[in-house]
Parts: sequence; C-alpha cells; structure tokens
Amino acid sequence: DVKIRIRNLTKVFYQKGESTTALDNVTLDILDGEFVCLVGPSGCGKTTLLRILADLEQPSAGEYEIAREKEDRPLQSMVFQERGVIPWLTVRDNVAFGLEMRKLPKKVVKERTDYYLEKTGLMAFADRYPKELSGGMKQRVGIARAFANDPEILLMDEPFAALDEQNKFILQEELLQIWAETRKTVLFITHSIDEALLLSDRILLMSAQPGRISEEIRVAAPRPRT
Ligand code: ADP
Ligand code: ADP
Repeated sequence: DVKIRIRNLTKVFYQKGESTTALDNVTLDILDGEFVCLVGPSGCGKTTLLRILADLEQPSAGEYEIAREKEDRPLQSMVFQERGVIPWLTVRDNVAFGLEMRKLPKKVVKERTDYYLEKTGLMAFADRYPKELSGGMKQRVGIARAFANDPEILLMDEPFAALDEQNKFILQEELLQIWAETRKTVLFITHSIDEALLLSDRILLMSAQPGRISEEIRVAAPRPRT
C-alpha cells in the first residue's frame, strides 16, 4: 500500500526579488513500511521536501497525502540533526513529551516510554538532563521520542551527521533494529551515499539543479535485518 503519495510537488522560495526552485515537480510513492533514503548534495531540496511532509512548509504547487491507519496517531514525527532535545526536561520526559501532549493515559505513557528507553539504552540515563549527555545519547533521545510517538510516518533529517564515525555506525545499527521491529515508514535524508546504502534498499538521488529526483537505486541484495 502507498503510505506517502507525492504528486507534482513544487516549491519556489522568493527572497529579495530572487526566486529559488527548491523542488521541481516531484512525483513519488513511498510504500507502507519502507525505509527510503533521500540523498543529494547540500541545497538540492531534501530538507524542503521533508518540511513540506512535516507540514512545516506549504508547497507552491502539487500535493501530497499521508495515508492514515489510526485516527489517534500523529501523522508524522521528525528527528533532526540537532535541536532534538528539550534542555529543561529529563531524558524520560523528553521521550514521553509527545505522548503527554496527547494526554494519553499515564500507564500507556509510562509503558511506551520505558520500552523505548530500554531499546535505545537510555534507561540508566532516564533522570538525567540533556546537558549531561553525549551527542550520541542526545540523538538516541530524539529517536526514542519519535518512535514512542507511534506516528504514521517518520521523517529524519541527517540525524547522525554530527556524530563521529564510530558512534554513527552504532546508532545506524540501533535505528535499523528498532525499525525492523516496528516497520514504520521512514524517509531519511542524508548527503552520504554510504549511509544510504547501509540503511536502505531504496535510495532516491536528488540532483542539485533544479530540485528533482534524478534517479532511483534499488539495492539488489538488501542486507539482512533482524
Ligand atoms: P538541502 O536540504 O538539500 O540542503 P534545502 O531544501 O534546505 O536543501 O534547500 C533547497 C534550496 O532552497 C536551497 O537553494 C536553499 O537555499 C533554498 N531555501 C530553503 N529554504 C529557504 C527559505 N526559507 N527561503 C529561501 N530559500 C530557501
Ligand atoms: P540543511 O542544511 O539541514 O538543509 P539549512 O541550514 O540549509 O538546513 O536550513 C535551515 C533553515 O533555514 C531551514 O528552515 C531552511 O528553510 C532555511 N533556509 C535555508 N536556506 C535559506 C535561504 N537561502 N534563505 C532563507 N532561509 C533559508
């Protein structure tokens, strides 16, 4: 089933008399349960596409639709490179934040928060504050929160870009494990083709000009995932 249906999506920014085409007539289907990587150089329109799907930006033309499976679910959760954690909340409260906002029963909030604290190895840090955490741990908080929210789709914008190679690898593996359990539809942005090849068997390449998806790669023998 198609989870994200994108048709002729165009975004033009106007600024000081200049126009920039960030997306040019992008048409695309992402299926339910797919983990798709969107790869391309800086400025090619990746973040713009994600921000439109996150309803943070309005398209200039075209349309998209995210298929809803459950009424009480948020449509999308985002994981960013930075700004993922709320500094004045503990790790536990950060992970629980979206669930608390939805006023879910305390028991549900606690169970789901505990589950993802455990999954991401954050349980021992549950009562700490973000400033006491390493960069990798902060990104785990963002990932735990996004999955705990149980959204229809997950949108990730270079969540590991600021990490060193070793931490990056560990978190990539952890993300794949959590994803394999949940089979959430994920759209993951990266400028690294290596990262895309590690994470996904479907890769969309964007070209710098003029904001188009230029090619699609399907890895013939996808890596086994537990
Ligand atoms: P990427 O995420 O691939 O680096 P972006 O989607 O951030 O690319 O940007 C695509 C193009 O749109 C770039 O030329 C960028 O400068 C421009 N752009 C993005 N957001 C804005 C904005 N709010 N105002 C003007 N131009 C923008
Ligand atoms: P990334 O490199 O992760 O795509 P950027 O640093 O390019 O992110 O953009 C961060 C924010 O600035 C985004 O909200 C984007 O829309 C905005 N932005 C990007 N390019 C421009 C621009 N040329 N003019 C105004 N805003 C921009």
